[in-house]
Amino acid sequence: MRRLGSSLTSICPRFLLGALALALAACRAQPPPQTGASQAAAKTRPAFEATTAEPSSTPSATGEPARTPSPLPGKPDEAPAEATPARPAYNLSAVLDYGRHQLAVEELITYPNRSGEPLEDLLLLVEPTRYPSVFHLISLTLSPGGAEVEDYTLDIGQLRIRLPQPLPPGEAITLELAYELDLPSPDADYYGRPIPFGYTSRQTNLVDWYPYLPPYVLGEGWLAHQAGFFGEHLAYESADFQVRIRLEDDRPELTVAASAPATRDGDWRVYRLDAARNFAWSVSHLYTVTSTSVGDVEVLGYAFPAHAESGALTLQVTAEALALYNDLFGAYPHQTLSVVEADFLDGMEFDGLYFLSNAFYNLYRGGYDDYLTAIAAHETSHQWWYGLVGNDQALEPWLDEALATYSERLYYERLHPEALDWWWAYRINYYEPRGWVDGSIYNPEGYRAYRDAVYLNGAEFLEALRDQIGDQAFLAILKQYATENARQIATGEDFFHLLKPYAGEDLTHLIARYFAQPVDLDP
Ligand SMILES: [Zn+2]
Repeated sequence: MRRLGSSLTSICPRFLLGALALALAACRAQPPPQTGASQAAAKTRPAFEATTAEPSSTPSATGEPARTPSPLPGKPDEAPAEATPARPAYNLSAVLDYGRHQLAVEELITYPNRSGEPLEDLLLLVEPTRYPSVFHLISLTLSPGGAEVEDYTLDIGQLRIRLPQPLPPGEAITLELAYELDLPSPDADYYGRPIPFGYTSRQTNLVDWYPYLPPYVLGEGWLAHQAGFFGEHLAYESADFQVRIRLEDDRPELTVAASAPATRDGDWRVYRLDAARNFAWSVSHLYTVTSTSVGDVEVLGYAFPAHAESGALTLQVTAEALALYNDLFGAYPHQTLSVVEADFLDGMEFDGLYFLSNAFYNLYRGGYDDYLTAIAAHETSHQWWYGLVGNDQALEPWLDEALATYSERLYYERLHPEALDWWWAYRINYYEPRGWVDGSIYNPEGYRAYRDAVYLNGAEFLEALRDQIGDQAFLAILKQYATENARQIATGEDFFHLLKPYAGEDLTHLIARYFAQPVDLDP
C-alpha cells in the first residue's frame, strides 16, 4: 500500500504553480534544498544487467549450512502428509446487485490441516464485519456430515468455530457458508483512513469480501492481528480460488475487473486463480479498459473516462515493471495483472490486481518524475512482495513495504534513469527518513513515523546493503528470497539467512543501524 495523503506533501513543490488545491492544502514544507539534490546525485548508479544476477553465482548458494527450520506454515522442511491437499481451496459463488449495492455469496472452503498439530477450532477472518450492518450470515455447515454449526462466535473481524472434534494433522475439513453483504460506502474521514472496500457513485470494490482462514503457526496458533490505525494487518496463506460472479442487474456498460481472467458460463463470469493470497474484483459502469501483454501475461488497465493519458501511463508502467521484476525476482505466477483506478486516496495491492487512487491520475502532468509512475511500480512489485512471498504485514511490514519501495528504485534505474534523482529527492530524502525498519504497523508516533521508518528508511537500508555487498550479490539475494519463500509466509529471519555468507563486522554494524531487534548472522 502507498497512502496518498503523505505523498501529496512531497509532490507539492512540483505543482506549486499548478493551483491544485488538494496539493497546496497538504503542502507543509519546502522542496529539498541543494543538499537533497547532491544526495540524490550521489545515489545514481549505472544500470545493471538483471540477467547476470543468478542465485547460483553467489556465495550464498555454495557451502550453505542447512537453513533454520521455520515454524510458519508450509515450509519445505515441514512437508505435510501426502494425502493432505496442497492448499486451502475457496469456491465462491457471488451474485452482485450493482445498483442496490448488495452481494449474496455461497462459499465452500476446503481446509487442509498442514499445521502439524490437531486443530480444536477454526478461525475465519471476516473483514466485512468491521463495518456496521454489512455482513449477514445465513448458514454455516461443516462437512463431512453437513451439520449446521452452532458452536461459533462472530466478533468484529473474526468468526471462530469450535470443532465437534479436533481436526487431525494431515486431514481436511469442508466448510459451507451462505451470507449476504449490504455493501458500505465508507467515509474515509470517519474511519481516519482510506477504505478500499465498498461502493462509490462510480465503482464497487470487493476486497477481503469473504471469510477466510489466516495462516496457522505451529505452537502459536492462528496468525491474526487487530487492525491498526494505518497499515495492513492481514496475513494470507496461499490458496486456490474458483469464483463465479453474476451481476443481478447486468447491462452492457458494466465492467468487471478481477484478479484473474473470466470465462463465461451463461450469465456467470467464471474465474480460477491458483496459489494466490486472495481474489479481488471491482465493478463499474464507467471503466475504460486498455490492455497490453508481457510475454504470456495480459496487463489490463481500468480507468475512468477522463483519464485516458494517465491511464495509458499506468498501464505502460505496470507492464514495464512486470517485465523487469520477472527478470529480477522470478516469473509472475498468474495469467493477468489488472490495475484499477480507485475512488479512495490510496494505492492498494491484492493478488493479481491492484488499485491506484484517482488522485494520482488527476495529478499526473506527464513524464516519469511523478507519483503515478512511482506508485504504479511500487504496487506492481507487491505481486512479489506480498503476493508471491507472503509475510506478517502487521508485525513485519518491512518485508513487503521496504522491498516494494526499493523496487521503485530498481524500476527507475533500469527503465527511466533520468528520473532517478527525482525519485531519491522527492520520494525518500525529502522526508529525511529515520526509525527502525523492523517496526510494526502499531507505531504510536503515527502514520508518518511508520511510513518513514518502514518504507523509506527500509529503502535506505536496502541501498546501504547493496552498496556493501555489491550489485550482483544483492540482486541474487532478492531473487533467492523470492524463490525460496514463494507461496510461503516469509520472516525477517528468512531474509537475513541469505545474508549469512556476507556476515562480518561491517554487516553487523549496518544492520544494527536500521534494525531494533538483534539479527543473528552466525552460520
Ligand atoms: Zn506498499
